[in-house]
Formats: sequence, structure tokens, C-alpha cells
Amino acid sequence: MTKLNLQTLFRPEVLALSAYHVADAQGFIKLDAMENPYTWSEDLKQSWLAKLKDAPLNRYPDPEARELTQTLKISNQLPDNIDLLLGNGSDEIIQLLLMALPVNSHVLSTTPSFVMYKQISDYLGLNYHGVSLRADNFDLDLPAMLNAIEKYNPAIIFLAYPNNPTGNLFSSDAINTIIDAANGLVIIDEAYEPFANASFMNRVANNVLVMRTVSKLGLAGLRLGYIAGEHEIIEQLHKIRLPYNINVLTQSSVQFALEHKNVFEEQTRAICAERTVMLSALNSLNGITAYDSAANFILFKTPENQATKIFEAIKAQGVLIKNVHPQGGLLTDCLRVTVGTPEENQAFLQALKVALSR
Ligand SMILES: *Cc1c(COP(=O)(O)O)cnc(C)c1O
Repeated sequence: MTKLNLQTLFRPEVLALSAYHVADAQGFIKLDAMENPYTWSEDLKQSWLAKLKDAPLNRYPDPEARELTQTLKISNQLPDNIDLLLGNGSDEIIQLLLMALPVNSHVLSTTPSFVMYKQISDYLGLNYHGVSLRADNFDLDLPAMLNAIEKYNPAIIFLAYPNNPTGNLFSSDAINTIIDAANGLVIIDEAYEPFANASFMNRVANNVLVMRTVSKLGLAGLRLGYIAGEHEIIEQLHKIRLPYNINVLTQSSVQFALEHKNVFEEQTRAICAERTVMLSALNSLNGITAYDSAANFILFKTPENQATKIFEAIKAQGVLIKNVHPQGGLLTDCLRVTVGTPEENQAFLQALKVALSR
């Protein structure tokens, strides 16, 4: 064969992408990815393993994941007329939603927000628009959002509630106004719902869908996300998902975990308590401004032009957080830290103090 020409083989949108970079965290105290730091008791692990022992690995999984879907409907208190679609993480659901759109569609979200909305829109050749949040409080800039809705008539609007990486809940009045103004779907992404004490789940109807995941709750390794919406919408998405997108071990393990919800509720309480401790510790440091969070991470601002240096100095001390400064805009000079165990958080704070004193 002649030499492969990748430039003509792949779509320009794909060639133009830079690979989604996930830092190698081996050996680090890992506070970069909003994971739950707590594991399970030996007893719990033993009963989980006992259940997995009989998992039918030789068989394809239930393509509809019926038992798990039913359990999720009950645990999320969904009414009967609302359907669920399960995905290999909510990332897959974002991809499914966007894959279903006509090629020239517009997609709207905020800047900053979860990077996957833009990343996936870009490689699918959709027109993505991010409307800047308000600089004073990271809330929605409602007039600017309404302008963008009028201008682009987006097929999908993504709103992360709470928002990543700012950690705040947008004003619910503003969200409701956006829902009323939208002609397309409004996806409320509640990845951090376990820490938020706020939800739009009871607003699911017509063009409103709510997406959740078990990742931030403490099951990131299993890859399970889900979205709730009207039957007519969910039905379309089912057509384009791969038939067995939720594997046997994930179906079985999430089912098991949801039967032990109290364990996660306890862990979540511990994380929220630590969030309060960390927020005030951060704000007591000279030169640091930490922002209130309804999630399991905290965004904080460092002295001008120091973010990357401070990030590297913290990393050199064995603690990995996330440098969001390179994203620019409202995130200039900002770093994001996940709330870990009290010991991990102390190690991070100590490393930050050393970094600031240099
Ligand atoms: C982490 C995150 C997701 C992705 O969750 P997965 O289920 O692990 O794919 C989705 N949305 C937001 C806002 C997130 O922060």
C-alpha cells in the first residue's frame, strides 16, 4: 500500500484536537479528579465479592440493565413517566446527546464549565458556544445567555449544577428563565448532587433532562452515569448507544452499592464537613481567595502570575491538584483542589503554605 495520509483519512475536527490529558498520579496524594477518598470496610468488600463471584461473565450483560435502572429510578424518586438512559459514565451520555444532533447544530454552555461539552462538540463538528459567567460570583450572566439562545437557537444547553470547576450552584431563577427561553434541550448536569443539597430532578419534563453519575459519589472506577428525561427523548438516545454499554461487573456492583447507600451518605457527610474546614483554612492564608463550593472540590485564586509556580511546588511535595489557570478568563490565577481525607487535606495545605512562602 502507499503511505497512509492521515490528513485526508480523518476529519479535520479530529486532527485539530489535542488529546484529553489526564495527569499520571502514581505516588501522589491525589486531589485532582474529584474522587471520593474513602474505601469500604473489609466486611462490605467481602459481601461485594461474594456477590461478584456469581456474576455471569460468560454472558453478555442485560442490554437494558433492567434491575439497575429500576433501582436508580427508585433511589432518585423518579415518577413513572420519566425514563432513564444509562451510560459508561456521564461522559458517554454527553457524547450520545451530541451525536444525535444534526451536523450544523449549535451547543451552548458557560465558560468556564465542564470541558467535555466543548471537546465532544468540537470533534463532532458541532458549533459550540460558551457564555462567560459573571465575574463577581460565577453565576449565570442571564442577559448574555438569553442573547446567545436567541442568536444561535442551540439544540442543547448544558448547565452543570453545581458547576465544575467553580463549585457554585447557579441561580435557580436564571436556570428556569433559560428553560423557558430554550427551543432545544436543557441538560442539567448534576454530577456533584451528593454534595449540593439542591437539584432540578423534580423539573424533569418536556425539554429538561437531569444527568447524574455515581463517579463523584465514590464509584468513579465503575463508569456509570445516567440521564432522566421524557420517554420520547430517551427513546431516541437508546437507538444510538452501543447495545451492551454497561458491563456485567458495573451493573452488579452499582446495584450492590445502592443497597448500601448509608455508607456513601456517611462518606459524603465527612467530605462536606472537611470542605468547610478547608475553605476557612484556605481563606486564612495570605494571598489566597477560596470560593464557596456546593461540590467536593474548591476553586481558589492565588497571587497574580503565580498559579503554575504554586501548582508545581505543591506537586513537587507529592500532592497533585488541578491547574486551571491555563484555561484563562475567569480561571486566570486559579487552582482547583478536591476535598480528600483530613490527612490528605492537611498535607495539601502544608504544601500550599510552603509553596506560598517561596
Ligand atoms: C466529572 C464530571 C462528569 C463526568 O462524570 P463521569 O460519570 O465520570 O463520566 C460530568 N459532568 C461534570 C460537571 C463533571 O464534573
